[in-house]
Amino acid sequence: MTSHSQPELLGLDIQELAALVQGLGEPEYRARQLYEALYRQRAASLESVSTLPEKLRRSLSGHSLGLPRIERQYSSSDGTIRYLIAFADGQSVETVWMPEGDGGEAGDGSSAGDEEETKSGKNWRRATICVSSQVGCAVDCKFCLTATLGLQRNLSAGEIVGQVLAVLNDRGARIAEDRINLVFMGQGEPFLNYENFTKAVRLLVEGARIPASRMTVSTSGIVPRIHDLGQEAVRPKLAISLNASNDDVRARVMPINRKWPIAMLLEAARSFPLRNRERITFEYVLLDGVNDEVAHARELAELLRGLRAKVNLIALNPGPGIDFGTPADARVRAFQQVLIRAGIPTFIRRPRGRDIFAACGQLKRTVAEEPLVQLQP
Ligand code: SAH
Ligand code: SF4
Repeated sequence: MTSHSQPELLGLDIQELAALVQGLGEPEYRARQLYEALYRQRAASLESVSTLPEKLRRSLSGHSLGLPRIERQYSSSDGTIRYLIAFADGQSVETVWMPEGDGGEAGDGSSAGDEEETKSGKNWRRATICVSSQVGCAVDCKFCLTATLGLQRNLSAGEIVGQVLAVLNDRGARIAEDRINLVFMGQGEPFLNYENFTKAVRLLVEGARIPASRMTVSTSGIVPRIHDLGQEAVRPKLAISLNASNDDVRARVMPINRKWPIAMLLEAARSFPLRNRERITFEYVLLDGVNDEVAHARELAELLRGLRAKVNLIALNPGPGIDFGTPADARVRAFQQVLIRAGIPTFIRRPRGRDIFAACGQLKRTVAEEPLVQLQP
């Protein structure tokens, strides 16, 4: 058993590992071996790292690997798996696995629709993992269940990376062959945990070898950090949770709009240095009768004019204590049509795993205590 007083190896970058192994009197190249074992080979224990000499493994025994534990997992009828992942101090978050290959769609709105099974017999060829960045969230959006947790704490870089590695291990995924996308859209506001979040991204790109072009971070609109992200050498694609077409409505459903109103947010989006063929995704949760009128769609199209943008529409996923309704499909489609006619690529995000409370805005640990089908104790 690991104890949380032990320093954890996951989360250390190559320089930090070099300092560690040198401090133990070992040659620096051992750091590279350790780095590869942690992030690329996704070692489940230190003992299993056969590339390291026995003596070094013993010297490292004061450290824990830091791989979080899968506390429970819930499977949806659509193939989505909601993992409850527990850290050394007993806190836990959700990490969601969304396979594609059953004709499904996940993550960035690009559809797969590939029914073939791979040679290994897996019934998925691509998957998106939705990753948490904090335990709970302080941002207090009125339509989001995570908000009701409040902020419990930030996750460390190792804990953010650890979620991904634990789920990849559980699913038997192979980075070189399987197409794995990451979305940082689980519990928490990644930009209010910016240093740990960006370090985790670097470890996942450089260590675990998941291309940054397959990663998307979603923010509620922490404007200074949008500017910062644009300056990062290694960064995911950017998604912004807009959710309203004017400040009145947005401030009502997202109090953070009082600090960074729409004009500031869109200014940050306009100055964000996009790469070749890259677009900014704007997420828009449709709340029945609140922000889903055709007039709102026109206002939104006006706001996004001239931006290299795409829009993901998400009909509200309901939850206990959430005082908004889910619009009918016809309203969602009418909203989409206005945007498409204005030349903005607009996708309707199919909810994934609603039956197991795995869909956007439904991640709140306590829901898991309720009697849902429990697959693995
Ligand atoms: N904190 C970040 C990332 C996590 S939320 C952010 O807010 O962007 C991921 C997405 O889920 C956001 O776009 C958010 O607007 C959306 N969301 C939150 N609650 C939802 C709900 N109840 N139904 C549908 N989408 C929701
Ligand atoms: Fe936090 Fe995002 Fe939920 Fe808002 S939508 S409360 S920022 S997790």
